Amino acid sequence: MEEIRLENLSKDFDGFVAVENVSLAIQSGELFSFLGPSGCGKTTLLRMIAGFEIPSTGRILIGNTDITDLPPYKRQVNTIFQNYSLFPHMTVFDNVAFGLRIRKSPKNEIKNRVREMLSLVKMEDQANKFPEQISGGQKQRVAIARALINQPKVLLLDEPLAALDLKLRQHMLIELMNIHDAVGITFIYVTHDQGEAMSISDRVAVMNYGNIIQEGPPDDIYERPNSVFSAYFIGETNLISGEVISIEDDYVQIRCPDGTGNSFEIDSTFHFQPNIGQELTVSLRPEKIAISRNKPRYQDDINILRGVIEDILYLGSHTQYIVRVGALKIRVFSQHKRVYFDDTALDWEEPVWLFWHDTDSWLINEI
Ligand code: ATP
Repeated sequence: MEEIRLENLSKDFDGFVAVENVSLAIQSGELFSFLGPSGCGKTTLLRMIAGFEIPSTGRILIGNTDITDLPPYKRQVNTIFQNYSLFPHMTVFDNVAFGLRIRKSPKNEIKNRVREMLSLVKMEDQANKFPEQISGGQKQRVAIARALINQPKVLLLDEPLAALDLKLRQHMLIELMNIHDAVGITFIYVTHDQGEAMSISDRVAVMNYGNIIQEGPPDDIYERPNSVFSAYFIGETNLISGEVISIEDDYVQIRCPDGTGNSFEIDSTFHFQPNIGQELTVSLRPEKIAISRNKPRYQDDINILRGVIEDILYLGSHTQYIVRVGALKIRVFSQHKRVYFDDTALDWEEPVWLFWHDTDSWLINEI
């Protein structure tokens, strides 16, 4: 069931277009993220859904109700901001109770609901503390409890973990997913951190310059980027532009611009269908490429490049190699600190073979 529909939504600040003609449907119970670089318009989009910003054009619907002109408090939507916005002079209990007290709910109901919410965010034993007496992660939990107590249909989260350190952020991501599962309402999450968006979301909208560039499940965006921007913004990739020199069934051959006469072959079954002579971009993720000092025998000379190691960066979980292939520099991630087939570490300036499968790269209809 559809929870939120954005129809041709735009926001113009004195001639500056922050959000441009965005149309989108978010399903009920979904954890949906807006992901994009700073200034791409994701907060403005969220603020329009919350009711803090009036759209220049377009409509916002929750269910079948047009909420475009409703004030924030009538929208059944709550927002959690990056700085938590807790009331410093109130205890954790009173902060969480606030929304129900405003509504003049009965005392007993308030007590029970606050307890329920504090238990959901694992803060039952901190109810009498003031915000300055609890940690950043705990403040975040209180903010979540406070936002959920009025049982909104949609919870908006604007970079909610930005103020936390890395370990806590990773922990809170899992907590957020658990809370989302427990309450079952729609969460809309704004972040510029692709790792966060990828790990937490059912679906992601990748944004740039006020537009949605691509929308879909995280693995879909990672494996099948529709644009150079998506491929580049999500994860690491090698973007190689080239010309289509042959197409046979679904196999597309691209002349590699490395000046060595190499070509790539790509199984394009699920890609767009290019034409011979077309210039396009191939996205080749670094972890899909194998690196070896021995030439692989089974590969029929397809998707094999000969290069020289220019740089090696040991990163613990994997090693990054930068390999010079003619005029190209290809980034490779290898799980093994040591070489793929034998036991001797690869070295700077060493000649190597790079190879990958024809389903491991992706065609992008752009250069
Ligand atoms: P960040 O991650 O840095 O918060 P964002 O993607 O959330 O960025 P927005 O805050 O939505 O981006 O801003 C989008 C653009 O609109 C920016 O260029 C910003 O300067 C501009 N903008 C936002 N609010 C206003 C405003 N009230 N008046 C004028 N320009 C604004």
